[in-house]
Amino acid sequence: MIDFRSDTVTKPTQAMRAAMAQAEVGDDVYGDDPTVNSLQDMAADMFGFDGALFVSSGTQANLLALMAHCERGDEYLCGQQAHNYKFEGGGAAVLGSIQPQPLNNQADGSILLSDIEAAIKPDDVHFARTRLLSLENTIGGKVLSQDYLAQAQTLAFNRGLKIHLDGARVANAAVAQGIAIADITQYFDSVSICLSKGLCAPIGSILLGDERLIAKATRWRKMLGGGMRQAGIIAAAAKLAMTEQVDRLAEDHHNAKRLALLLADIPELNVDIASVQTNMVFAKLAEHINPIVLAHALSRKGILISASQQLRLVTHNDINQHDITTFVHELKQAILLVK
Ligand SMILES: *Cc1c(COP(=O)(O)O)cnc(C)c1O
Repeated sequence: MIDFRSDTVTKPTQAMRAAMAQAEVGDDVYGDDPTVNSLQDMAADMFGFDGALFVSSGTQANLLALMAHCERGDEYLCGQQAHNYKFEGGGAAVLGSIQPQPLNNQADGSILLSDIEAAIKPDDVHFARTRLLSLENTIGGKVLSQDYLAQAQTLAFNRGLKIHLDGARVANAAVAQGIAIADITQYFDSVSICLSKGLCAPIGSILLGDERLIAKATRWRKMLGGGMRQAGIIAAAAKLAMTEQVDRLAEDHHNAKRLALLLADIPELNVDIASVQTNMVFAKLAEHINPIVLAHALSRKGILISASQQLRLVTHNDINQHDITTFVHELKQAILLVK
């Protein structure tokens, strides 16, 4: 199957499977797993933080960050399109008693600094306490500029807010700009990074922060049932995600650009080529094409897409240049068939 639904579908590499088989392990709830410890030390070091915590998922990393920064009755500012507002089951509110204050995302994914300023609530019994600003990079496949991150950090600092990055795909943002991940994470008090998307690990995310934040997050993680035992088995693959998969993302970005250019020639699709900055291509299907029928026709040819009028196609390690050519050919055939 050629699977464009997400970069979460990537399978672990052979090197990862071998490392998993060989991994030294211990009970991580006692802090005894050497592979987890070395992953966490490595991540803290590489990304410029005092501490790092290996967790089960990006959702858990974001939730732990929100619960470590905020108390009951606090709020966080984030984008309307933020994953940690829209796609995480309302976890901060449900489990943390933390109120989200969503703000408009601009077309480039940023939130206007003036909107952030205006949303910070005065110290008044009527209001939740505004505690945290949460940004996302990449967001919808788009990269936030380094200038913008610096300005957001200054704003947060001047107004006494902490600043969190949902960096599920921060490695894509770094590679797209030709900079180190640490150049991006330097602007934040905490960062979550997914290792199981474009970086190909089977499971796991990293949460970065100072010692106090990581200690609080470790406590919440245990309460949420996220204390893992011989987690070195998956940490071994996660280490390779950080050391061997980051530079490779450039291929995914290249494939996405090429895919966008090829799709732009299909009259039934509207592709915004300029918005293709990393590994995601968005293409709007003409109204007379039913996305469910189209997805079904493609699946019979061994191609998976998410059925939606606004197609989101994601490139990753398990899609090569030849797969892109095959897909475009089969898509043209399928459109002829269903229109
Ligand atoms: C995927 C994703 C997450 C959550 O990661 P899971 O591992 O699926 O829980 C968080 N934020 C962003 C931006 C993501 O794309």
